[in-house]
Amino acid sequence: MMNLNETKLEQVVDAAIKAVGGNKRWTNAIIRAEEILTSGNPYIHFTGHSLLMLSESGEIYEANGVCQCRAFEQGQPCKHRAAYKLMVRYQETAH
Ligand SMILES: [Zn+2]
Repeated sequence: MMNLNETKLEQVVDAAIKAVGGNKRWTNAIIRAEEILTSGNPYIHFTGHSLLMLSESGEIYEANGVCQCRAFEQGQPCKHRAAYKLMVRYQETAH
């Protein structure tokens, strides 16, 4: 589980949702990404360049601008890339 400041994560999530301007798929991806970051995913690690996480299919996905999941393959937003972006923004606001 990531040791994240809830208030700060909340701010990052709100800003991210505003930034996608009502795009439903990305909004959903961001909400699910927040769950990944807060609900104690059994394996999750942010390298600074990418976010590694155990997926529901049992594989480790490495998300940055790209992902290995089906949604990405189909050109759809995915929660893994959304989680990566949240972590990048979270790190940026840390300083
Ligand atoms: Zn993905």
